[in-house]
Order: sequence, then C-alpha cells, then structure tokens
Amino acid sequence: MALLQISEPGQSTAPHRHNLACGIDLGTTNSLVASVMSGATKLLKDTDGEVILPSIAHFSGEEVSIGKEALNFAIQDPSNTIFSIKRFMGISYDEAKAIKNLPYDLVNLDGSVGFKTAMGVLTPIEVSSRILNSLKNRAEKALGDELKGAVITVPAYFNDAQRQSTKDAAKLAGINVLRLLNEPTAAAIAYGLETKEEGIHAVYDLGGGTFDISILSFNRGVFEVMSTGGDSSLGGDDFDNLIFEDCVNKLALQNLSASQIQIIRQFAKSSKEQLSTKDVAEFEIDHKHYQITKSDFEAMTEDLVKRTLRITKRALRDAGIDTQDVKEVIMVGGSTRMSVIRERVGELFKKPVLCSINPDEVVAKGAAIQANVLAGNKSKDDVLLLDVLPLSLGLETMGGLVEKVIHRNTTIPITRAQEFTTYKDGQTGMGIHVYQGERELTKDCRSLGRFELKGIPPMVAGRARILVEFQVDADGLLSVSAKEETSGVKSEIVIKPSYGLSDQEMEKMLKDSVVFAQEDIQLRMLQEQRVDANRTIEAIDAALEADQSLLDKAMLDSILSARKDLSLIIDSTGADEIKEATQELERVSAKFVEMRMNQSIMSAMKGHRIDEFNDQL
Ligand code: ADP
Ligand code: MG
Repeated sequence: MALLQISEPGQSTAPHRHNLACGIDLGTTNSLVASVMSGATKLLKDTDGEVILPSIAHFSGEEVSIGKEALNFAIQDPSNTIFSIKRFMGISYDEAKAIKNLPYDLVNLDGSVGFKTAMGVLTPIEVSSRILNSLKNRAEKALGDELKGAVITVPAYFNDAQRQSTKDAAKLAGINVLRLLNEPTAAAIAYGLETKEEGIHAVYDLGGGTFDISILSFNRGVFEVMSTGGDSSLGGDDFDNLIFEDCVNKLALQNLSASQIQIIRQFAKSSKEQLSTKDVAEFEIDHKHYQITKSDFEAMTEDLVKRTLRITKRALRDAGIDTQDVKEVIMVGGSTRMSVIRERVGELFKKPVLCSINPDEVVAKGAAIQANVLAGNKSKDDVLLLDVLPLSLGLETMGGLVEKVIHRNTTIPITRAQEFTTYKDGQTGMGIHVYQGERELTKDCRSLGRFELKGIPPMVAGRARILVEFQVDADGLLSVSAKEETSGVKSEIVIKPSYGLSDQEMEKMLKDSVVFAQEDIQLRMLQEQRVDANRTIEAIDAALEADQSLLDKAMLDSILSARKDLSLIIDSTGADEIKEATQELERVSAKFVEMRMNQSIMSAMKGHRIDEFNDQL
C-alpha cells in the first residue's frame, strides 16, 4: 500500500470547536494511545500515569482485566490470559494451530479460530476489542469527552482479512475508525517526512516479539511500500531469553518453579532495559547475585542483531535499491532503544538513524497526527495521506474476461461506476463476479466474491442499463453495488475476502501481468470476437423463429449456411476468421433484418394516417 497527499476534503468546523480524536498503536506486545492537544502530540496516560498498556487480556469467570493487571494472571491462569492477540487477527484455525507453544485451548469456528476461556469461546476480534476499549476509555478520561474517532495502525504487510478484523474489533469496542494506517507510514508522519522532499525511507521496527523492516518511497505525494520483510518470532523477548539462560547457567539454578521462571524473566527484561543506559545490570535470585555488563550482553546478542541486518539487506534487495539510496532510517519499537541496534543499523546505512522521538511512541504519535487531520481540526491547507490500491479491481464479463473498473495504483478512497448491459433478450438476472488482478482472463485473477442482480424487467438485449459501482474505502475495503437504471432494481455486497493475498502472491500477480501482457491481449480479442459471434447467432435465431415466413428458400438457405459456417469455427480458429464469418452472416441477413423492420413499421402504422407520424417528428 502507499499513500497520497490531497487537500483535505471538509473544512474545519467552528474555530473553537475541537473534535476529539486519537491515534492508537495496537501492538503485539504493547499498545499506546496519543492525541494532538493544543498543537502538541501527547501520549495519553492511564490512572497510574503509565503510557504503555501491555497487550494482554485475562478472562476470569466474571471479570476481564487488561494490561498490567492481566499480566499478574500469566502464571496462575495461563489458559485464560491471552498474549499477542495481534498474531491471531484474520488468520484461520489451521494457521493459528501452527503457532508453537501456545498455552491456549483453541477452537475451530468454521475455519476461523477461537479461544476457550472461562468466559466462553472468544474470537480474536473480541479479545482485541477489549484492549481497544481500554485505550478508548483512557483517551476519553484524559481528553474529558467522547471521542469522535481514532486512527489505528497495522503492520504494512497486514492483508485484507487482518485489516478487516482490526476494524471489526474497533467497532466492537465502540470506536469510530477514521482509518487504518500502516505502522511505518505513521512513524514517517511523526517525523514530518511527508512534508519534506521526495525520497526513500527505511523503517526498522524491533518490538517485543516481532521484527519488521519496511522500505517506503515518498513520491509525488505518495508513500509507497517498496518492500517489507521481517521475522514474526524475533524481538526483545529473544534478548531477554539470552539473559535468562545466562543467569540460569552462571548461577547453576535448578528445578525452577513456574513462578521463579517468571520472576527471572522479569529480571532479565528489566536488566536488558537498564543496559540501554547503564554499563552494568544486576539482581538477586534465591540469595544469589547475578551481574551482566553491557559488553557481555552485546557479545551474547550479536547473532540476533545480525539476523535483523540480514533481513534488512534482503528487503533492500527486494526493493531493488542500495543502502545509499535511503534518505532516512527511522527507528521504531522499544527494542531499538538498545544502543547496539542504533549503532549497527547506522553502520549498515552509513548514516545516523532517526531516533529523536521515543521509538515505542513514534507510531502512536504519527497516528494521532493523522487522526487530528481526519477529525477536521486542521485548516484546509493541511494535507491528508491516502493509500493507493495495490491491485486492479474488476468484473467478469462474457467470455471469462475481466473488465477493470478501478486500476492498480489509483488513490483511495475512491468510487467508480461503469455501465453494463444484458446479453440476451429478456434476461432478468445478472451475475456480478468481482475479481482482483492485472491479467485479462478471470482464470488468472483472484475471485473476491459474487452476487446476483435479480428482477431486471425483460428487455431486448443491450437495452438494460446496469450501473455497477465500486467503492473502496480509506482502508482498502471494497463494496460493490449494481443497479438497473431504468427500473431502479438494486443489489450490493461488501467484499470481505476471508484470507488475503500474501506478498509473494501479490508480486506474482503483478509480474505475470507484465510477462503475459501480449498473450493476454490476443486472448482478449479472441474472446471478444467469440462473444460477438454468439450474440449475432442468437439474434438471427430469434429473428428466424419469429419471422421466418418473410423469407424465400434461397434467402433462408444462405442465412442458414452462413450461420453454420460461423458456428463451426467459433470455438476453434483465430479472432480474424471469426470476425469474417460473423460479418458474412450479418451481410447475408441484412435484407432479412430490413424486411422485419419494414414489417414492424407497417403494423405499427395500421389504422393511422401518415401525417399523424409526421406531426410527431
Ligand atoms: P510491540 O510493537 O511489539 O508491541 P514495543 O515496541 O512496545 O512492542 O517493544 C517492546 C519491547 O521493547 C520489549 O521487548 C521491551 O523489553 C523493549 N524495550 C522497552 N524499553 C527498552 C529499553 N529501554 N531498552 C531495551 N529494550 C526496551
Ligand atoms: Mg510496534
């Protein structure tokens, strides 16, 4: 996805009226909420003065606790304490089952996943909505009134299903989603990069359990994701684990209880965090003293750091660029507070990295800035950032062809309508089949959904005017409606693809569209010619059925023979031959068509005087 600047549509409301809006970084490990207040972007605190809400929910029989409180249940009640819910958004039961070492009781809900808890079976959307709701309450308390809406961030690689689930969770939490925003883009906005000159930016995001690298290009007002890479099981937790293991080995700790393990984990984590600013960290466990120096820590975690650098280089290669092409490197995620990370990433890009904004707050801040603009608090000179559509969207037309309604790279939100008509006389229904992709034939594109427009009044082929409207909202979600204009019959669907495309699939679809372009055009011409030929044959058949009596034998024979010639080659030969045979059939039946026309005029005129018609002309 990518972004575009346009002028803001609505004007700001009355001068002193401020619409409350916030930005939410819904993280795997931690979530935050920020808002723009009197021109400054501020992180909102809970009643204890904490900015970070651990993304954890505990479900007891009666009560739900969120964040730090929920963390306390991790040891005593693991199956009801849900961590990292973000990993489960929009994935199938089978995909969830494949995640290792989960303490949960997963339930198969018609292919999607649920968690068996003391409060019944809960979906990832329900769990996530609890965390969002807690952030919403915090924001409304801090801001003193109801929220008008929120911008929620998602990873750049999130597919349609993951985005839709995030939106559904927000809705369930009673949040009006102004839009979803890619996390790396939010970080770039927090640094104000969308107001600077064009160029390529790298966003290096090392969080608690995940690593993401995104290469963004900012061009003619558009932030485009050139490539993404990462590892969904590489993050701050792995650094903690190394300290944990070192401690257990050095102090020769044995037969640890679950709660001891949890305590050492906490110590390991806080030691790691201390080493970002201090040279030594230490703690006591079982009356034993553990100490670790910054250089020990850096030596011990060298491999983890190198892994992120390798993934970063791969993302640069995928984007087809070199480190020198990158203008700015933005650091995101709590783990980039470790100085070794900043140094090593800086070395790779041969320039200092951007880390002046707290890396664990930068995404929420960018989201808040967007939310403030979208809520209508800025003057009309301010700009909005919008995404572009990654793949074209279209409809199946006769002959298995795809007619593109919205082309790839169109900025969204967008609404585009196209008119279609019926193919047969008296046709009363029409199947609307929506496809995504760049190729010409349906079989090479991805089906997104289909619906039926029924109740079209019977008309001559080509007379009905069916307006099909595609609407893509700011989050890339599509709804399609079809309306027969003369009768007003209407039908519509909202497309929620169950599972989105992976990056590789998307890339393949784009590559294929280039590779097969020439071949596709020829196939398209052939298919169109076939459709045309069939239509001519059907029209002739209908005419013969009604008015064969007008023809003498010679005329009838020549029409039937031309019809036969065409029907014999329709499925086999090339477009040119079919076109010729179609024209031949039209030629030999031209006289017949004329006779029918005359006859219908005669019958219409029966009982009328010629000047009556002249009056009307
Ligand atoms: P996520 O985006 O995955 O939800 P965050 O960006 O909040 O997570 O990152 C959380 C991680 O950042 C944790 O592993 C935490 O230990 C780590 N972290 C937070 N502060 C520091 C620090 N000062 N030094 C090193 N790591 C830190
Ligand atoms: Mg994050």
